[in-house]
Amino acid sequence: MSDCSMCERVRLAKAGQNSNLIREFKSSYLVLGDHQYFKGYSVLVLKHHVRELHELSLDAQQDLFKELMTAGKAVNDAFKPWKMNYSCYGNQVPHIHWHLFPRYESDPDHLSHPWKNSADFDQHLINERETKEYVALIKAKLAD
Ligand SMILES: [Zn+2]
Repeated sequence: MSDCSMCERVRLAKAGQNSNLIREFKSSYLVLGDHQYFKGYSVLVLKHHVRELHELSLDAQQDLFKELMTAGKAVNDAFKPWKMNYSCYGNQVPHIHWHLFPRYESDPDHLSHPWKNSADFDQHLINERETKEYVALIKAKLAD
């Protein structure tokens, strides 16, 4: 067990034990979010424990950004949201990870940032069947 929840997700993905895993990229893993308050919510986790984006080499920055765009397009194509939101903070878990939030006009606060409803995220946890279904939808859009 790592102290870092993102390192733990990476460890599980490497061991083939992360059921939320969508795709392994060169420098990151794309995983389905634990909650689906926003249908299609996914997280792109850097394989290495690095705190700040600017600490990555230029090549690593470019690799990660390409992977983020590939992931974002796939989520967009799978769920056809009104808008994609991307966020990278690391205040709570200091390991580079990008949140990919598909936003819908039906969101109660679709003109605001996605964290506004974070208190309700845990009410939208999904079961194993839904996880498989959503992972498959995004995977299908990554097939190339
Ligand atoms: Zn970490």
